[in-house]
Amino acid sequence: MEKKLTMDKLVNLCKARGFVFQGSEIYGGFANTWDFGPVGVELKNNIKRAWWKKFVQEDPSTYGVDAAILMNPRVWEASGHVQSFGDPKMDCKNCKTRHRADTIIENFTKGKVSAEGMSNEEMEKFIEEHDIKCPNCGKRDWTPIRKFNPMFTTSRNMVGDEKDVVYLRPETCQGEYVNFLNVQRTMRAKVPFAIAQIGKSFRNEITPGNFLFRTVEFEQMELQMFCKETDGLKIYETYKQKALNFVESLGLKAENLRFHDHDKLAHYAKAACDIQYNFPIGWQELNGIHHRGNWDLSRHSEFSGKTMDYLDPYTNERYIPNVIEYSIGADRLMLAIMSEAYDEETLENGETRVVMHFLPAIAPFKVAILPLQKNLGEKAKEIYGNLSKKFMCDYDEAGSIGKRYRRQDEIGTPFCVTVDFQTLEDNTVTIRDRDTMKQIRLSINELENYIQKAIEF
Ligand code: ATP
Repeated sequence: MEKKLTMDKLVNLCKARGFVFQGSEIYGGFANTWDFGPVGVELKNNIKRAWWKKFVQEDPSTYGVDAAILMNPRVWEASGHVQSFGDPKMDCKNCKTRHRADTIIENFTKGKVSAEGMSNEEMEKFIEEHDIKCPNCGKRDWTPIRKFNPMFTTSRNMVGDEKDVVYLRPETCQGEYVNFLNVQRTMRAKVPFAIAQIGKSFRNEITPGNFLFRTVEFEQMELQMFCKETDGLKIYETYKQKALNFVESLGLKAENLRFHDHDKLAHYAKAACDIQYNFPIGWQELNGIHHRGNWDLSRHSEFSGKTMDYLDPYTNERYIPNVIEYSIGADRLMLAIMSEAYDEETLENGETRVVMHFLPAIAPFKVAILPLQKNLGEKAKEIYGNLSKKFMCDYDEAGSIGKRYRRQDEIGTPFCVTVDFQTLEDNTVTIRDRDTMKQIRLSINELENYIQKAIEF
């Protein structure tokens, strides 16, 4: 069945069914913040757990951490974020890429015109008069130029002197770099090894929007693989494939995924690519894989004064490892998964059912327990009590059974267990499959195994 999914439809479903609410809604909202409701928090947690399982639990060379969000401000000097505060930036409204206005002018004029000393207004005028287009997409649709602070700031005391400024981290990876030595030493880790983390990041985006796609507060799931320079490219290629396999294993279809290699690299980078997904807003970045050379550890060595050398126990060589970074937004992946899972099916009676075909392993609820009538509630609650020790279960006794099935379809519950009068006689229930809508009769004792098998990941 062809999907007719727009972002508005998805936002409405999310709101109506408890996936995602607008942040601070009763105050009229707070732009580009979102609150995950009872259904959404389960989905997001399951996505994070699946990522952790694949990349940390099942990989003996990867170690997890959970680093502080607030870090010593020197970290952000080493990373280059503080320095880039004063740069005049503008975004292309068409392709959402960000550019330095002075660099755009200098590149356009092949260095003949220096924008140094130009005000923002002068640069804007120059760009307009010379019809300078976005080097990425070729359109001229610029936001005004701003000196843009990409990091949210807070302060440690009430006065808020400049020297007390503290930043909310704009990326989680610095928590891994600063713990490189701690993890290497305590886990007796040998290069190549990776440090992984899932946590919140905050970015003062110029053009946030498109629901969960670009928000100012989001979660990243990422790892930094520390390796020998000569192994870097091979490991980079391996992670491109692992990253793709992972999102496919969660149900994203190959035809909606593609690699996008970067032609323009940061000065220190050796290779970079995104995996793009065909979102309801078109092809956009889902995750990034970057070969960052030894830039990050070298910078931290320089700024902290601590050596980041690794002594190779096999060759006795001493070197600062290279870093391969793999980073994916949990919220952005959730958006992709919801877009992929959404379906509208026309039933035999002509009605339309909306169904979320989530992979059972990440579905918010694994099973819903539905007594056919209220007076079967006691038995149904007993089943709920047992199964909820093993899985997230929903319980619903209100309304017609058909309406209850529809509700579970819309939140993607793979199984509905219906308790009827026969249950009281022979301890069997019906179990309905979300995708086929077929029902079979099972003994209550078989339920746990039946569901467990279906949700393995
Ligand atoms: P983009 O080009 O979309 O801004 P980026 O290249 O800046 O992303 P990275 O810094 O590489 O992104 O971050 C890694 C991942 O974190 C992205 O691929 C994306 O999944 C997620 N991410 C980045 N910024 C945001 C945001 N503002 N809101 C939600 N997710 C984000």
